[in-house]
Amino acid sequence: MLNTQKILDRAVLGEQISEEECNFIYRGASLGQLASAADSIRKRLNPAETVTYLIDRNINYTNVCDTACKFCAFYRPYGHKESYILSREILAQKIEETLEIGGTRILMQGGHHPDLRLDWYQDLLTWIREKYPKIQTDCFSPSEIDNICQIENKSAYYVLSALKDAGLMGLPGGGAELLDDRIRSRVSPKKISGERWIEIMDAAHSLKLATSASMVIGFGEKDENRVRHLTMLRDQQKKAKERGDFGFIAFIAWTLQHEQTALGRQSINRGLLGSGANEYLRNLAISRIYLQNITHMQSSWPTQGYKVAQVALEFGADDFGSTMMEENVVSQASTKTQQKVQVEEILSLVQEAGFQPRQRNTWYQIVA
Ligand code: SF4
Repeated sequence: MLNTQKILDRAVLGEQISEEECNFIYRGASLGQLASAADSIRKRLNPAETVTYLIDRNINYTNVCDTACKFCAFYRPYGHKESYILSREILAQKIEETLEIGGTRILMQGGHHPDLRLDWYQDLLTWIREKYPKIQTDCFSPSEIDNICQIENKSAYYVLSALKDAGLMGLPGGGAELLDDRIRSRVSPKKISGERWIEIMDAAHSLKLATSASMVIGFGEKDENRVRHLTMLRDQQKKAKERGDFGFIAFIAWTLQHEQTALGRQSINRGLLGSGANEYLRNLAISRIYLQNITHMQSSWPTQGYKVAQVALEFGADDFGSTMMEENVVSQASTKTQQKVQVEEILSLVQEAGFQPRQRNTWYQIVA
């Protein structure tokens, strides 16, 4: 007979709980029980008094995409009058602005452009490495890598090796949403499967690229779909670590912003979409309890706002995420999203929550 508190007590001591047990506590535990267990685990894995943050910039190099995910308000079809590929001039300006405020990373993602060949991405990375040697490049989520694989008819390992040689340092965790194909087939039927997402991350892990894992909730899914997602991440992390790789450095969950998307417009019962603060915090705490082989967890201010992001620091998060400076995929889907956060604001928000803010790099090394 399963017992909620006993399961949580074992997890706090570092024991890996089963998928069945995780499903049981997802609803069976109170928010207070989950917060208490998640906070204990967070303090065991990371310095209790410190909350880290990253100064970086999200750059969306192209909005051309042929995948038409129903939750995406960012993409434009090929040939659309609003479609773009950023010029080197604009990219240079964005990177220089990032460096000016002490930024250490650019996170570059875009749509699945059907014309861009592998050498286009290689040239881009080489140009950045030569012109801006101090900037970390975490670029191209697994679904973009798969797009290059399809265009070139090459394996993920081949494409990632070539990109790494050209200067790629890491891969963002985007495109995971929920890895359970029962959800993917409904909201993003043309996107890569959950298994393929993991396969590409596995290749990235074996190449020692910096990677993160992400999760989006609020598609009208069941708890078991969420837990399946977490199990797939946990299994991949176990595999990578057993091989001696770093695996995922961090995990971040956020909530679907569906207001201006096809999914929001088409859904008969829109009340099932999205998630409030309570559900976000419950999911974060469950993630901290279940994914103990991923060291760091971020709170999500862009989708939840500053106040909930502060509370998330008591629900398992040890990192306030990044400044981002600009973000288009999430922000174009929501009128509520705050598009810019100043570094000073993050510092005071973390301090106000009772922690010492520390600037980090992609690898979670303290830089200031
Ligand atoms: S989420 Fe990404 S893959 Fe899906 S339509 Fe938008 S840009 Fe394309």
